Amino acid sequence: MISENLLDTLNDQINYELASEYLYLAMQSYCESVDLKGFANFFIVQIQEERFHAMKFFNFLTDMDQRVLLTPIAGPGNEYTGMLDCFEKSLAHEKTVTGRIYNLSDIAMEEKEHATLSLLKWFIDEQVEEESNFTTIVKKLKRIGDDSAALYLLDTELAARVYVAPTVV
Ligand code: MG
Repeated sequence: MISENLLDTLNDQINYELASEYLYLAMQSYCESVDLKGFANFFIVQIQEERFHAMKFFNFLTDMDQRVLLTPIAGPGNEYTGMLDCFEKSLAHEKTVTGRIYNLSDIAMEEKEHATLSLLKWFIDEQVEEESNFTTIVKKLKRIGDDSAALYLLDTELAARVYVAPTVV
């Protein structure tokens, strides 16, 4: 049985995953504005992942016969100074998400809510992947510095990223 506190926190996380989607949409727009189509593509894939995360929580609550309540989504930042700024902000955002997932797990553990814990296990693993992806690109961008040819090479690399829907939903 999901407590009111756990339900509220899960609903809040749906909002946060949608806010993540909105944030990465703003970053896609910024990348398009500076003609970095590969970086824009990276965020297009990320946007799809965030929608999947939101819907994974959404479908879980529906399956548990709980009501999903949607609330206003926080406005993303629209101004960035460059790709490193985008990816440092993305990494900081993902670390916040990880903290929120851990908090959810703490609550679910206290309540011995095993179904929710099983769901959250997937998200804990997913966050390792998310942080790793952004950390790798932050490191590459730091090495690239002001080298526009190297930035173009990374842009080409990121153009190849494709969204793969997880098979286990
Ligand atoms: Mg997410």
